Amino acid sequence: MQITRNSSQKTATGPSEWFTGTVYVDPVATPSNGSRVGASMVHFTPGARTAWHAHPHGQTIYVTEGIGLVQRRGGPIEVISPGDRVFFEPEEWHWHGAAPTRFMTHLAMHEVPENGNAATWGPHVTDEEYGKAPPIDA
Ligand code: MN
Repeated sequence: MQITRNSSQKTATGPSEWFTGTVYVDPVATPSNGSRVGASMVHFTPGARTAWHAHPHGQTIYVTEGIGLVQRRGGPIEVISPGDRVFFEPEEWHWHGAAPTRFMTHLAMHEVPENGNAATWGPHVTDEEYGKAPPIDA
């Protein structure tokens, strides 16, 4: 058994190559000793979002706070709320982030392959693409 204390962790900011806006990331699980589970608690400030990306083994996100947005390539932008969980299929291109006027926090869980690359990253989600989100109170 291994306890990692809250106080021993430092919250990191999401790198600008992979995110638009300000995003904070707290690691939850990192692969070790044969386990391939990776998990992070990701805090998006209003308007912040990932770039387009895909995960080799897919990904589940579980929303814990706020109001967020998700989109898969070719699909509409969907509004997500606490308690919602979203599974992105392996190699499915998508993005996730906060609504324009709300924070959003989710737990992200995925398998990390042997090469360590849990995601393939593409272009940023433009303001034009992000602006097509439906109103969050609809
Ligand atoms: Mn993802």
